[in-house]
Amino acid sequence: TDLPAREADLVARRDAVLGASYRLQYRRPVHFVRGQGMWLYDPDGRAYLDFYNNVPSLGHAHPEVNAAMTEQAGRISANTRYLEPRLVDYAERLIATFPEAMDRVVFTCTGSESNDLALRIARHVSGNDGVIVSSYAYHGTSAAVAAVSPNLGDAVRLSPSVRMVTLPGPAGIGQEQAGAHFEAQVKAAIHDLQRRGIGVAALLFDSIFSSDGVCIDPPGFIAGGADAVRAAGGLVIADEVQPGFGRTGEHMWGFQRHGIVPDLATLGKPMGNGFPIGAVVGRRDPMESFGTTARYSNTFAGNTVGIATAEAVLTILQRDDIPGNALAMGQRLRQGLESLATSQEMIGEIRNAGLFCGVDIGRPDATPLQRRKAALDVVNAMRDDGVLISTTGANEDTLKIRPPLICAGDHVDRFLETLEGALKRVASAV
Ligand code: PMP
Repeated sequence: TDLPAREADLVARRDAVLGASYRLQYRRPVHFVRGQGMWLYDPDGRAYLDFYNNVPSLGHAHPEVNAAMTEQAGRISANTRYLEPRLVDYAERLIATFPEAMDRVVFTCTGSESNDLALRIARHVSGNDGVIVSSYAYHGTSAAVAAVSPNLGDAVRLSPSVRMVTLPGPAGIGQEQAGAHFEAQVKAAIHDLQRRGIGVAALLFDSIFSSDGVCIDPPGFIAGGADAVRAAGGLVIADEVQPGFGRTGEHMWGFQRHGIVPDLATLGKPMGNGFPIGAVVGRRDPMESFGTTARYSNTFAGNTVGIATAEAVLTILQRDDIPGNALAMGQRLRQGLESLATSQEMIGEIRNAGLFCGVDIGRPDATPLQRRKAALDVVNAMRDDGVLISTTGANEDTLKIRPPLICAGDHVDRFLETLEGALKRVASAV
């Protein structure tokens, strides 16, 4: 490739020391030395518009978040075994953003830890082992959650207790039948788990199904399946690592879009705008039942620096109505994409909830392989033009568009212009 010597050297040195599972994004990897708001800067000072990173929801290097973090780091980073008002203040404020029935929280450091703990709670409370997930779900890195993450492909051995269900959208199921189809599959999975003496511990789902290709509609399609799991003694776990903290615009939490109240919700990524902090928020009964018999102690989780950071994030999110901005900018993005679709035949279905957006790529007559290549070509063409996105979905042919939630109208317009240019280049190269 035409990588500059400095970057080519870094790639070679990475390959020599890092484990083989590391992956670089883009055919021409990018090297950033600084971030500010919506922008990332390379060593030459070239700016890239970030339409991909959902961890810095409030933008890169947010001064207020950083001030809260460093101020607390300069005083003390206490753990949860000491009395610490900040921990309790934040717990109260976080819980207040949830439906009333969900009134307990346990802190973690990552989304994976949140899901891992949620599975422990579900298995403890139900006495069952089975977990129902979507067919291309990703729930994290620990052995237990990797075993319920079919997205990891053949390299991971799925648990014999996992059952998969397909979703409306990419699976070709129409909107009208989506709820009934989902419920029927969940019921079949429950039946099979019970028949084998495994039973159902949980329905675990990302409420915008990001790794399945952003399968969001129709709102409410999860409800029937969730009821069936509860009736069979299992828990409903909403993985809010991707949709949580206002990304979907209308709501703080993705499950609210589906009109359900889960037993547990798992949080991570944007909670600390970059500082590693996560949580499980849940209904009192399962949380108490687990906590009084099982032990859960997590050295770093709930440390005061993380809490101070998360507290600043929540304050800004609420004060500046960041979810409202996600909603408005999501609408602007969608309208722009729809108008682009009238001239660009490579644009297929567009799905978005607030500022999480998936766009299927490929001409109507393209093969799956051609679609995947086209999507990857578009992502790399945009990178060359200074805009960052990626792909998702079972066939990796859906553009994954997920900017920080502070993005403004001119950022959306710049994104759309760049996408148009990339689509035209890719289309003319075919
Ligand atoms: N759940 C979902 C839906 C995710 O997308 C991810 C991370 N991509 C995780 C869980 C795991 O989070 P973490 O990498 O912070 O452990």
